[in-house]
Amino acid sequence: MFFRKTSRAIGVHPRQNKSTQGMAFVRVDGFSRLTIPLNLQVGPGCSALVKKGDEVKVGQRIGEPLGHWSVPAHSSVSGTVTEVKKDILSSGDVADLIVIQSDGKQTLDESIKPPVVNDKESFLAAIRNAGLVGLGGAAFPTHVKLDPPEGKVIDTLVINGAECEPRITADDQLMRDRADRVVAGINLVCHYLDIPRCVIGIEDNKPEAIAAMQKAVDATGSEHKAAISVVTLKTLYPTGAEKVLIRYLTDRIVPENGLPADVGVVVLNVGTVAFIADIIDTGMPLIRKFVTIDGSAMAKSGNYDLPIGAPIEDIIEKVGGTKVPVGKIVMGGPMMGVSIDDTLHPVLKHTNSLLVANEKDATIPKESNCIHCGRCSKHCPMQLMPTDLDMAARRENVEELREYHVMNCIECGCCTFVCPAKRYLVQNIRIGKNLWRQAKKKEAK
Ligand code: SF4
Ligand code: SF4
Repeated sequence: MFFRKTSRAIGVHPRQNKSTQGMAFVRVDGFSRLTIPLNLQVGPGCSALVKKGDEVKVGQRIGEPLGHWSVPAHSSVSGTVTEVKKDILSSGDVADLIVIQSDGKQTLDESIKPPVVNDKESFLAAIRNAGLVGLGGAAFPTHVKLDPPEGKVIDTLVINGAECEPRITADDQLMRDRADRVVAGINLVCHYLDIPRCVIGIEDNKPEAIAAMQKAVDATGSEHKAAISVVTLKTLYPTGAEKVLIRYLTDRIVPENGLPADVGVVVLNVGTVAFIADIIDTGMPLIRKFVTIDGSAMAKSGNYDLPIGAPIEDIIEKVGGTKVPVGKIVMGGPMMGVSIDDTLHPVLKHTNSLLVANEKDATIPKESNCIHCGRCSKHCPMQLMPTDLDMAARRENVEELREYHVMNCIECGCCTFVCPAKRYLVQNIRIGKNLWRQAKKKEAK
């Protein structure tokens, strides 16, 4: 066990700035050129099933999985493939990409129909065939998550509706609009995986979502009705981090380098579980995503329903454009998001937010010497010593990184947020984790 048992909730209280809260999703279409990545998920991704010049339809499979951990890729538009290429996206990801010129007709692929599902295997196959990965941000293949290793018994399904990152409200809106779909998805997962209990965790800054979820749970006539509970969590970042959420909702502690399945738990995001219900009803693969777009440079903020593969540049233009020069675009929330500098970067399956900041908000503070105040350790939800990890990473000392449990860092950024010296803690710890991975690879050879 790594965590000390503590009754104290650990984390930080960044300003919420959820100005898009309560804004209904606006569907945005009409993109002329879309770029569908084939390998931006946890696992090996897939290989192209189409070539330059091929015609494709909406929902058509265009990427074939390369292994058990992969999911297929699908086209979000109808049109013509203009390029199949490998490229480095500005996020640093090396991506295999299929570029499609839309014909504007949105012709649906005729092979799309509800899957035949009658047991766990066919249920997991349907989920995989739809290209589903965790929609909360991790992009972990859902069919793998729902198929725990031999010998692990899952007794609790945890549904993550915390959405603890500031600014993002897409999950909040999804719970208000589609609570019945979330509950339908929960019932399917509990049924096919034989899970007797489900806990839905939502932070108390989303009262409408909590009410909608409770109403949907009360209304369901399923055999699993009694097993589903909605739990209100205190608003505290990073309550939605998987291991932290499990601790708050089940009082169980995932061991270091362990999985939720080690403590009998599987965690799904609200969007993921709602999408499972849609897959089983319609067979439509994952080709669209609910995304919050906000930030000091945007003329207008809101929640949008976007096709996967749409370029950020066109999206910003279509939703009202910017009012001042852009300093930075972040994919994800302000605490854990990844900065991108190429506006042709496409929306991905796990994109939940785009933050477009003005030049002032994009300024990176200059770091100074550590004053050993201890705030970073005090606020670390994983009870790590960020300053020691930071120094070990700067020294490239893998032994120390190991000793200080670098791989237990969830990269939440709480340490950086509270540091009065503005130390680049989480940035260096990320480098430290990569050093650890490289060392591990070398050892394995
Ligand atoms: S060390 Fe890692 S887990 Fe701890 S506060 Fe920093 S980023 Fe979060
Ligand atoms: S919060 Fe910053 S200044 Fe304080 S101990 Fe941690 S790294 Fe040093």
